[in-house]
Amino acid sequence: MRPSDPVGAGCPVLDLSCPIWRGERVDIWKQSLVVAQTGFHFKSLCDFTVNPFMGCGHGCPFCYVPEVSAAKQKSALEPYGVRDPDAEWGQYALLRMWDEKEFRQSLMKMCRIPPGKLMQGGHRAIMLSSTTDAYQHIRHPDSERAKELNAYRAYMVCKALEIIRDESDLRVRIQSRFTLAENDLELLVSYGPRLLLGTSIVTLDRSIGQLYEPHVPDAERRLEMLRKASAAGVNVYVAFAPVPPHCDEADVRRTLQAIAQVKPCTVFCESLNVRGGNLERIRKRAAELVVDSRMDLFENAAEVPAYSLRTLKMVERVAAEVGLAERLHLWPDKEVLGGKTAYAGVADPAEHAAWLLKWWNRVSEWPETTSAHQASPCGSDTATSIIPATTLDTVPIVTATTI
Ligand code: SF4
Repeated sequence: MRPSDPVGAGCPVLDLSCPIWRGERVDIWKQSLVVAQTGFHFKSLCDFTVNPFMGCGHGCPFCYVPEVSAAKQKSALEPYGVRDPDAEWGQYALLRMWDEKEFRQSLMKMCRIPPGKLMQGGHRAIMLSSTTDAYQHIRHPDSERAKELNAYRAYMVCKALEIIRDESDLRVRIQSRFTLAENDLELLVSYGPRLLLGTSIVTLDRSIGQLYEPHVPDAERRLEMLRKASAAGVNVYVAFAPVPPHCDEADVRRTLQAIAQVKPCTVFCESLNVRGGNLERIRKRAAELVVDSRMDLFENAAEVPAYSLRTLKMVERVAAEVGLAERLHLWPDKEVLGGKTAYAGVADPAEHAAWLLKWWNRVSEWPETTSAHQASPCGSDTATSIIPATTLDTVPIVTATTI
């Protein structure tokens, strides 16, 4: 059997004749889809991940996945014609192969991890996906190949979700900036409260959206997907992220009002974090659009925490105004707001420390739980807390993925 031959009846037939030799940036990745444990706990999103692609065709310029993930695969990406995984982010989307046996084995392995070995905020949930979008439409110059790849993606994602649902007790958090999840609504509904569907949005303002997330449907359209899913019985959440310097209070208010209407169980939020080459990619995109990138502020070490704190406090205030205070879950960046520069810029360091700990220790909502900060019923009440109060300014720097 060729390594590319899918295992499992009903899988679309795909000619995967040694994709690595094709040298194409949109094709098949050499590894199979698996469930993996993640160290990505500080956002209270998941304990495990399933990432069907290496790379992401959406290519959001602010994305820092290449710095925390794809850049580590630099030599493996070279045969596909990718020389700089960060600068070329968005130009490659390599779909993992489907091997049902391997997927099942990886799932069973994750199921066996005792809840006490997991962090409280992860909910024993699998995130689909953390370093890509499982529900992206694959663009390929050859329309026939595009059809094959899209059918393969759709099959693989459905099959993975069915196996997780039927053969494990793990939860699932779907995160997408696209709308293809609508096609799987029946499957998502069948999960009941074990599944959350979410989207990330930057703003409702299309001109700002063109700069930060140019290759995905408008934010209104993605919120519409959540409305539809919610009406069908799926629990939903939103990641309002990132909030870049272009978004003023009026813009934030308009976006949060629209988010409130979909009745999300949680609204995550972070300011723009500069990592790897995302600053250069935003500048490049701004130059194409002939607009001000407003990235100069990130050249000033003292201004970065000030911008981040100002933005998050503004979101906190506006969220309370629009009735989202209880649902808001801020992600203050530890590197930016937990460091000496941030503390030097605040009037009351003790109050700043308490504010940070409040957010860093927050456990996001899951529908089965009865309160935002209550442990989950499936055993994570024995899990360790996220950040002990004694670590304040010494917490590790987060190497989280963007979603
Ligand atoms: S932010 Fe998400 S959707 Fe956008 S490029 Fe990164 S992984 Fe893809």
